[in-house]
Amino acid sequence: MKEKIVYWITGAQTLYGEEVLSHVAEHSKQMADYVSAKMPVTVKYLATCKSSEEVEVAIKAVNCDENCIGVIVWCHTFSPAKMWIKGLKKLQKPLCHFATQFNKELPYSSIDMDFMNENQSAHGDREFGYILARMRLPHKVVVGHFTDERALHGLAHWCIAAAGYAFSEGVKVCRFSDNMRGVAVTEGDKVEAHIRFGWQVDYFPIGELEEEIGRVTEAETNALLDEYKEKYTLATENVAAVREQAKYEIAIERFLKKQGGYNAFVDHFGTLGGLRQLPGLAVQDLQAKGYGFGPEGDWKVAALGVIMSYMAGNSCTGMMEDYTYDLSRDAVLGAHMLEVSPQFAKDKPRIEVHPLSIGGKEDPARLVFEGISAPEAIAATMVDMGGHMRLILQKIELIPYPEKMLHLPVGGLMWRYANGFQEGVAAWLYAGGAHHSVVSAKVTMQEMLDLAEMWGIEAVVIDGYTDLATLKRQLAVGDKIWNV
Ligand code: MN
Repeated sequence: MKEKIVYWITGAQTLYGEEVLSHVAEHSKQMADYVSAKMPVTVKYLATCKSSEEVEVAIKAVNCDENCIGVIVWCHTFSPAKMWIKGLKKLQKPLCHFATQFNKELPYSSIDMDFMNENQSAHGDREFGYILARMRLPHKVVVGHFTDERALHGLAHWCIAAAGYAFSEGVKVCRFSDNMRGVAVTEGDKVEAHIRFGWQVDYFPIGELEEEIGRVTEAETNALLDEYKEKYTLATENVAAVREQAKYEIAIERFLKKQGGYNAFVDHFGTLGGLRQLPGLAVQDLQAKGYGFGPEGDWKVAALGVIMSYMAGNSCTGMMEDYTYDLSRDAVLGAHMLEVSPQFAKDKPRIEVHPLSIGGKEDPARLVFEGISAPEAIAATMVDMGGHMRLILQKIELIPYPEKMLHLPVGGLMWRYANGFQEGVAAWLYAGGAHHSVVSAKVTMQEMLDLAEMWGIEAVVIDGYTDLATLKRQLAVGDKIWNV
């Protein structure tokens, strides 16, 4: 992510003379460099703009740089905002208004009019804020001294969201199956997703993957098997079943690359063609590497998964499914028939082979583990409301298994809801939340909210402050605003 650039543009004017402007450029560079060192991306000072022409040149540079994912604007002084209109109309990247200042304290004993002219962010921020509000430009406001931890956290969240937004434009989902017959919530408008999020979602017959599997050599299979043995504990004597999964992994990854850099994929346990097992271990290990995955043809969760995994640095993030409740403990067990990402594993996962009661195929090899605990995590899901996409975000707490589950041979997570079980489940259901989600203990609620604003979609937050009556009103109002 550090290769990604956020440009820093400073707003100024010529009223106070060259000397002031040279100080401001110097301050801006210092501030951008300081901030850059604290960010997951690179922040680079670009220009101090004093006219409409200069703003336009700077915005064009932001738009043209392929590595640039966004722009931070700081107004050290009153920068008459009409000069921003022409450039801002052309801006194609996320915008952050950093309401900050070079000086932290007022120099009470020495302050004079020269100091005031050089350091009047409070004044400049208001002019700039107005034009963003007036132009209805989606943007983030971060407030605080440029060394302040809280301000830097706000900026970092926004930078990660901006990186996720840029990454989203390159998401390509390979569908080895259509959606599962009859299932509604995993459906969606793929053209809308392409326009809105940049997701290219394409179908490939499973037969083409079968051919790719047939071309995997024994030597390649052995090499991946050795890798498995290092990363995981081989806890089965059925090594042939594990080798089968290794072939699937090699073939899937090769197929995705060959077809033009697909970074997410879906399958379906009911449409496996000639595959002897449902891909389990293969899918799990690919998710560990950062690939997005959706079961039963769920391309929305596959796309969301690869983006959130990228934002999380491939850590503590992956596809999840609400499975079964522990009503005595107000908890939910999340798992899947096989494909839970080892990014969630608390300890070294075990490779085991067991029968799968559905699909009618051979016993698949899979990773078995108990999931991590985390006081703060989120579950995210995307549903198509028929007219607009809705991102639903729920704050959850990942908890240890209350008791061992020795007869459940899958990876799993357990969680509780930030606003209590009854309200938490009801809120998710009122919002139309799916059974598939992407859970992350790394990506934050704020990052996903910033991302939703960049996408220009409805985001529903369910957290410790969610009140059901208020939420229902918000959903009703949201429908009027977003349904176009
Ligand atoms: Mn499922």
